[in-house]
Amino acid sequence: MRDIRISVTDRCNFRCIYCMPKEVFGRDHAFLPRDEILSFEEITRLVRIAAGHGVTKVRLTGGEPLLRKGIVDLVSMIGDVPTSTGGALDIALTTNGSTLARFAVALKDAGLSRVTVSLDSPDDATFQAMNDVRFPVAEVLRGIEAAQEAGLGPIKVNMVVKRGMNDRDILPMARLFRGTPHIVRFIEFMDVGATNGWRLDDVVPSAEVLRVIDATHPLVALESSSPGETANRWAYADGAGEIGVISSVTQPFCRTCSRARVSVDGKLYTCLFGTRGHDLRALMRDGCTDDELSSALADIWRNRSDRYSETRTTAVRVEQRVDRVEMSYIGG
Ligand code: SAM
Ligand code: SF4
Repeated sequence: MRDIRISVTDRCNFRCIYCMPKEVFGRDHAFLPRDEILSFEEITRLVRIAAGHGVTKVRLTGGEPLLRKGIVDLVSMIGDVPTSTGGALDIALTTNGSTLARFAVALKDAGLSRVTVSLDSPDDATFQAMNDVRFPVAEVLRGIEAAQEAGLGPIKVNMVVKRGMNDRDILPMARLFRGTPHIVRFIEFMDVGATNGWRLDDVVPSAEVLRVIDATHPLVALESSSPGETANRWAYADGAGEIGVISSVTQPFCRTCSRARVSVDGKLYTCLFGTRGHDLRALMRDGCTDDELSSALADIWRNRSDRYSETRTTAVRVEQRVDRVEMSYIGG
């Protein structure tokens, strides 16, 4: 375990069609009540215990993490936790960018290292159709620039590619960020959760993304920067920057996964495609000691056997999909 991702809210101001489709997450959708979600003290305690086990990277996600009240204070509380070797944790945050321009400086001052911003298209009509709340591209770009200026770069920009929806935007997206320090990462549309109507036909394989870009702007492969890295990295041959592809459907990377996920209500999942989490909130609220919490974490991690992405094509288990947790709950 090197990397822990924590969902800090299940709420979001977007309704991305592949994540929180409006038909499911409508006006009357019941989000978790406040007392069921982890408090800042509980989150910080978990981070401290995980750091004791060698975790060096923490990523805050959701839902939309910038919607969580007091998020800047949470970053600063986590920032005070040392790694097992006494260094500083690498704290990152994944956001839809909608309020990033407002928060960037405060987040940096609180100790945030980097942000990843999601943007599915440079074209307003397509982006608005995908976020499904008519949110404009320009505002996300403003957030990206503000984050870069605040020192939260290099910024990764995530684009989920869905066939027939935004696949024609692959090259325009690459071009928008070519020649900047930002790194676009093209993500295969995944079958997380049970509500996004996923079909294999909707997946645009990363190999195709690379072909499209390489045909106009030749690419050269780069070494991965860390062992558990999910993205394959590529550089423009002419030195105009870097892109990445995340191929969790066509090239699963379960084997090198070093990532634990904590849902908004404190369940630890050892896989994004998990159906059952381990209830750390119950342990903490029942008054367990730090030692007990630490052993529980170690046991769960040692006994994990998830490798969903490597088995999904050999066994399409419809009944299992129904139980799978949603991305906004577990954190992407
Ligand atoms: N709201 C924040 C955001 O959108 O960046 C953070 C949470 S979101 C669940 C994290 C990432 O997961 C985003 O980059 C999003 O595009 C990605 N994501 C959500 N559903 C996905 C799916 N079905 N397949 C691939 N990526 C997905
Ligand atoms: Fe919200 Fe992020 Fe999911 Fe889009 S991908 S609905 S922004 S949580």
